Amino acid sequence: MNILLLGSGGREHALAWKLAQSPRCDTLYAAPGNPGIAEEAELVALDAADHAAVGAFCAEHSIGMVVIGPEAPLVDGLADSLRAEGVPVFGPGRAAAQLEGSKSFTKALCDRAGIPTAGYVHAASLEQAMGALDRFEPPYVLKADGLAAGKGVVIPETRAEAEAALAGMFGGQFGSAGAEVVVEEFMRGEEASLFAITDGTSVVPFGTAQDHKRVGEGDTGPNTGGMGAYSPAPVLTADLEERAMAEIVRPTVAKLAAEGTPYSGVLYAGLMLTEDGPKLVEYNCRFGDPECQVLMMRFAGDLVEAMLACAEGRLADLPAPEFSGETALTVVMAANGYPGTPEKGGAIDLRDAEAKDAKVFHAGTAMKDGALVANGGRVLNVTATGANVTEAQATAYEAVDAIDFPTGFVRRDIGHNEIRREAERDRG
Ligand code: AMP
Repeated sequence: MNILLLGSGGREHALAWKLAQSPRCDTLYAAPGNPGIAEEAELVALDAADHAAVGAFCAEHSIGMVVIGPEAPLVDGLADSLRAEGVPVFGPGRAAAQLEGSKSFTKALCDRAGIPTAGYVHAASLEQAMGALDRFEPPYVLKADGLAAGKGVVIPETRAEAEAALAGMFGGQFGSAGAEVVVEEFMRGEEASLFAITDGTSVVPFGTAQDHKRVGEGDTGPNTGGMGAYSPAPVLTADLEERAMAEIVRPTVAKLAAEGTPYSGVLYAGLMLTEDGPKLVEYNCRFGDPECQVLMMRFAGDLVEAMLACAEGRLADLPAPEFSGETALTVVMAANGYPGTPEKGGAIDLRDAEAKDAKVFHAGTAMKDGALVANGGRVLNVTATGANVTEAQATAYEAVDAIDFPTGFVRRDIGHNEIRREAERDRG
């Protein structure tokens, strides 16, 4: 079958790589794609915001499934538009994508379904939000309600900082995303990500991961889209994973179905592993980037089969997704300046990085005069596998060191928490 993949990041390169391996995949098209995706797919110029154009492309090219990588087109209802034309889509429709598109939607759903999460107040005015601060202790957790490209959460340590942050949010700092704000209880614990795929009724786990959001080593400095990740996340033990499935993920999918807005696609639960068990931090309605890269390195099944089963409501007939027992780890190579203003146009020579048992996924790259250059903040995702995090990390950095990208940088400590725990276990 012909497949259309939408997106242009490292996540979509990993998806393209895996989709193209399926015997069921005839022609894989990607829009807009990037130079790495071009090795797996035929790139086409399509604007995901133009639903009619995407629909027309699907009709002309006999597309049997559309895979929507990023959140914006999902929240924008592209899946609904395509389904209305009979095209199977991997990804939720607009109503269910509100799980990512609106923090207050998710908090209210958690209330209705009894899902463990931080206590909160939904504030529609600055005055209400200021009043809500009385109900919580510092540090305060303040979230712009709408999509804010991962930047809509601030965690001020003092009341004065919290008041200033709220003034900024209601003052238009996040545009319309900040017109309403959720003030939350601060949860203590370690964070981990749990992925599940669903057709709206059946739900199955699809791997775990942990990522590093801060730009600096030791998890310091400003937040980014993610500087590295590994899978599985050993902190999310089989028991905790089952608890999170039973108490958080399955009730969410069941509630959305019962309310007439079934969720299909991948559901990404950001969890806090607290003393009282796993609690929901947030939902995303798509794969994480770079978590997808490490999941795809380990996924042992046929991605076309799995996604199509979700799109066509046949997940119950599919054997449980299998993942290799190895650890996969990815290191993000970013352009100098990221997450502020990244330097564009820097030359990249991949040399023989992949000869080192690693896979280099492209994110913000472009071809200029026949040569590969940086064209975004996060540029490459150097991904390797190993028996544990320590081994996967060593191989990933060997490959990083083989790449010549003078205007880029990496964090040298991806996986450090787990590597410390592995060393402690070795010492017995
Ligand atoms: P979100 O976009 O909701 O995932 O929030 C971004 C980050 O803020 C999360 O990955 C957490 O590190 C942190 N965070 C969000 N909500 C809370 C909370 N209630 N307690 C502690 N940390 C939080």
